[in-house]
Amino acid sequence: MRQRAARDQKRLDSGAVTSPKDLENLQHEIASLARRQSDLEDVVLEVMERREAAQERATELTGRVESLQSKISDATARRDAAVEEIDNEIATVTKERAVIAGTIPADLLKLYDKLREQQGGVGAARLYQRRCDGCRQELAITELNEVRSAPADTVVRCENCRRILVRTPESGL
Ligand SMILES: [Zn+2]
Repeated sequence: MRQRAARDQKRLDSGAVTSPKDLENLQHEIASLARRQSDLEDVVLEVMERREAAQERATELTGRVESLQSKISDATARRDAAVEEIDNEIATVTKERAVIAGTIPADLLKLYDKLREQQGGVGAARLYQRRCDGCRQELAITELNEVRSAPADTVVRCENCRRILVRTPESGL
């Protein structure tokens, strides 16, 4: 378009065009080309501004993605470390349990395992200040008397939840 305008201008300046009508047409075309060029320049400018804004937004989003990825990596590493710690603890506790289970009479162990399954993982509970630590119920006087008079090696159970009651000096007997 610029070339065409320059060519028209050259023809105009050369004096080769002499007819007034042709001159008028040429001037008209030059003016029209100048207007179109100005319009196109505005469009180019707008496109460039939009491209710049889009690039800024892309940079910002890339930064956020990187920040989130770094957070994900941190959390994943912490999770993996925690899982490893828990696995080690499970292994240790399982080993300890096996050692202790080996010293307990088979029928008592069987009862304990059955109760543990029935009672949400807790088969035996401490008797603490006349209260069963398993179901938090206070034992009735008659029950307390029975527990008090039972020999130390007798397995006593909570009348309410049926868990094995473990007597300690703090049982309140
Ligand atoms: Zn109980």
